[in-house]
Amino acid sequence: MGYSGLQKGTVSVWGGETERFYKGATTVPVVQSVAFSYGDPDEWYEVATGRAEGYIYSRNTNPTVRVLEEKIRALEGAEAATSFSTGMGAISNTLWALLGPGKRVVTIKDTYGGASRLFLDFLPAYGIEVTLCETGNHEEMEAEIARGCDLVYLETPTNPTLKVVDVARLSLAARTAGAVTVVDNTFATPINQNPLSLGADLVIHSATKFLCGHSDAMGGLLCGKAALVQKVYGFREINGASLQGDPAYMILRGMKTLELRIERQNASAMQVAQYLLAHPAVENVFYPGLPSHHGYEVASTQMSGYGGVLSFALKGGYDAVKAFLPKLRLVHLAASLGSVSTLAGPPRTTSHVELTEEQRALLGIPESLIRYSVGIENVQDLIADLGQALAVLSAPPTPEVR
Ligand SMILES: *Cc1c(COP(=O)(O)O)cnc(C)c1O
Repeated sequence: MGYSGLQKGTVSVWGGETERFYKGATTVPVVQSVAFSYGDPDEWYEVATGRAEGYIYSRNTNPTVRVLEEKIRALEGAEAATSFSTGMGAISNTLWALLGPGKRVVTIKDTYGGASRLFLDFLPAYGIEVTLCETGNHEEMEAEIARGCDLVYLETPTNPTLKVVDVARLSLAARTAGAVTVVDNTFATPINQNPLSLGADLVIHSATKFLCGHSDAMGGLLCGKAALVQKVYGFREINGASLQGDPAYMILRGMKTLELRIERQNASAMQVAQYLLAHPAVENVFYPGLPSHHGYEVASTQMSGYGGVLSFALKGGYDAVKAFLPKLRLVHLAASLGSVSTLAGPPRTTSHVELTEEQRALLGIPESLIRYSVGIENVQDLIADLGQALAVLSAPPTPEVR
C-alpha cells in the first residue's frame, strides 16, 4: 500500500497495519512460531525460493516483524526495509555486508561508541580502510570522499555534543565518487529528519531508543534502496542477528505514539536548553535548536524539529557533576536515551567511558558534560527539578557553627 499524501502521525499508526489481521484482531498479533507450514510443496518451493510472498523460518522474517519493517519503510519513504536484534546489529551487518578487503569507508570521529569500535578495531583487521574526519568539517570530508571510497557513514545529530553534518552535501559528494551513503538517524527519528529525501541511500535506526520509546525492548532497522537492503538482509539471515516477534511488537506499540512523543520532546528539549543556557552554574549548552550552536543552520534546513537530546557542561568540572547529578529527582541516571522518562548521565561514565581524559578532550567532550534525554514529563517539573539541583552548585558555603 502507498502512504503518499498521509502525514507521519498517521503513518506511525497505520503503516504496515492496513491488512486484516487474524480473526479481525485490531492490534498486530505476536506470531510465536519459528517455522511456517505449507500443504502444497509447489507453493512452499515458490516461497522458499523468493518467487512468492510468504514466511518460511523466523530467522529470515516473521509476520509481526514484517509489519514493523513496513512501518519504518513507509515513515522513511524507502523502497525496502529489514530488521535486526539491536541497533548495533543493524550497523554491523550493514558494514560487513557492503564492505570487504580493499574497500574504503569515510566517516566522522563522533559516531556512536559501538560504531566507532567497528571503525577503529574490527573493520581494519579485515583489510578495510577507514578514514575518520573531523565531525562538521565538510571540506575535509569532501576531499577524502573524492579520493575514492565505497561507503560514506554519517550520523547526525551526534552523541554527545549534538554536532550536525550536512546530509545533502555529503550524499552528493558520495554519489559523485560512486559511494553508498549510510545515515544513522537514531537521534533525529523519522519525525524530525528523513535522510533518504536528502540523498542518502540507506538509513539505520536503533529502534531501542525513540522508536520503541519506553526503554523496554531492543531492535535495529535498516531501510533505503531495495538492492542494498536485500544485500544486507541476505547477510543478516545467515549471520543470525534477527529480530524476534516479542520485541517487534513492543516497538510497533511504541511507534503508534511516535509523533506525539517527538513533538513533545522537541518542544521540551528546546525549553530546557534555553533555561540551562541562562543559568549561571552552566558553562555551555549543546543543542542544535539554539542559534548559538555551530550546527544550527544546517540543522534548520534538514530537520523539522531538533530532537529530544541535549547536553550541557557545568562550571566546576567533574566535582560539580558529582554534586549535581544525585540531586536530580526526575531522571534515571542511566545509559540509553529516547524514553518516555528523562535519562541523564555523564559521557565520561557512559558512552565515552573507554577513552582517556585527553582523548575526550580531543573529541571536545568536557569532563563536566552531562547528556540529558528529555522524556515526556511536564517540562515545568523538569525545569524545576534542574533548578533545585543546580542550586546546590551556586549555594554559598554553609557558615561555620560556633
Ligand atoms: C544506541 C545507539 C545505537 C546502538 O543501538 P543498540 O540498540 O543499543 O544496539 C546506534 N546508534 C545510535 C545513535 C545510538 O544511540
